[in-house]
Amino acid sequence: MPASRDNDDRPLAPGLYLVATPIGNLEDITLRALRVLRQADRIACEDTRQTQKLLNHFEIRTPTVSYHMHNEGSRTEELIAELKNGARIAIVSDAGTPGIADPGGQIVAAALASGVDVFPIPGANAAISGLIASGLNTERFTFHGFLPAKAGQRKTALDDLVRGDVTHVFYEAPHRILDTLADIEGVFGPNQHIVIARELTKMHEEFLRGTVADLRSQLSARASIRGEIVLMLAPTTIESTSEDKKNTLAAEVSAMMKSEGISEMDALKRIARERGIGKSEAYRELQREQNKLR
Ligand code: SAM
Repeated sequence: MPASRDNDDRPLAPGLYLVATPIGNLEDITLRALRVLRQADRIACEDTRQTQKLLNHFEIRTPTVSYHMHNEGSRTEELIAELKNGARIAIVSDAGTPGIADPGGQIVAAALASGVDVFPIPGANAAISGLIASGLNTERFTFHGFLPAKAGQRKTALDDLVRGDVTHVFYEAPHRILDTLADIEGVFGPNQHIVIARELTKMHEEFLRGTVADLRSQLSARASIRGEIVLMLAPTTIESTSEDKKNTLAAEVSAMMKSEGISEMDALKRIARERGIGKSEAYRELQREQNKLR
C-alpha cells in the first residue's frame, strides 16, 4: 500500500494530475494532493492568486501558471508540449474538483490524445458533499451544473428534467436562487421537496430541507442571501403521495382499462367526457403525466 505521508519523497511519475482542493475548509485537502502539489513541476490554476493562498498556507513553493476558460485552448497546447517532454503538471480550480463545472476537461482530452498519463487526485466536491447530507436518494442522481441564467431557458431546462426516482443536483448563484425557486414551484408545484445546501464545509454551513414554497418564503424573508449554493430536487416519486397518484388521469385510465376491458383511447374518451374536457386536452394531460413518471 502506498505510504500516506505528504512529505513522501517518492518521485512523481510524469503526467497530468487533476488535484481537488477544499471548497471552504482548508482541512479538506488530502495528503496525496499536498504531495502532488509539492512535487509537480508546475501547477496550472484557474486563478493563480486564489491558489497562491492555499499554497502559502501549506508552504508549497511550486511555480503556478494560469489556466482558465479564456486561455484554456492556448494554454492546453503549451502544457501538452511540456507533458510530452515528461513534465508533471497539476491542474487545480479555485475550489473543489477540476473539470466539474470548472476548467479541466479540455486538457484531459488533449493529454489522452497525446498518450500522456492522467491521474485523478480526488477530494472535495460541492455537489457530492451536498447530496450525501441531503437526506435525498443518493443511489440515482443527476448532476446538471448551473441552470441557465435566462428565465426562459431555465424553465425549459426544468421542464425537460427526467421525472422518476432520480435526485437532481444543481449549482446555483445566491442572486438567482429566488428566481430559480419560483420557476421550480411553477413547473413542479409548491409541494416539490427540495434541499438547499449553503456554504458547505464553512463556518456558516446550512441545510434547508422542505417544500419549495416554504423554502422560498423562508429565503425571501432574509435581508440578503449570500454564499455558495447546491440545490437539490427530490425524486418526484418519493414526493408524490399515494393520494396524488390515485388522482392522476393515467391512474384513472389504467383502472378503467382493467375494470372495463377497453382500450386506452376509449378509456381516455370516457374520462374526458366525465371530466367535461376535450379529448385532445385529456390526451395532452395523459402524455404529460406519463413523461413525468418516466
Ligand atoms: N469544481 C467545484 C466542485 O468540485 O464542487 C465547483 C465549481 S463551480 C464554478 C462553483 C459552484 O459550486 C458554486 O457557485 C456553488 O454552486 C458550488 N459550490 C462551491 N463551493 C460550495 C460550497 N462550499 N457550498 C455550497 N456550494 C458550493
